[in-house]
Amino acid sequence: MRTVHKKHRDLQRAFPVGECCLCGGELYRGEICWHLAGRTLCGDCAGTWLADKLTACRLRLREVRR
Ligand SMILES: [Zn+2]
Repeated sequence: MRTVHKKHRDLQRAFPVGECCLCGGELYRGEICWHLAGRTLCGDCAGTWLADKLTACRLRLREVRR
């Protein structure tokens, strides 16, 4: 009989420890996520959320003063 030692956990068996406030996606231990303004966001949603919050700072290139 041969013993197989796993170096990495099987992600299919991992239990989610949280979820993204925007998309509801499951977040797992060790996964990169963002905690912004009291919300936990996955990597996919963090960029979109942050860009949306910064719309007041957005302008077209011709509008930039020299
Ligand atoms: Zn998300």
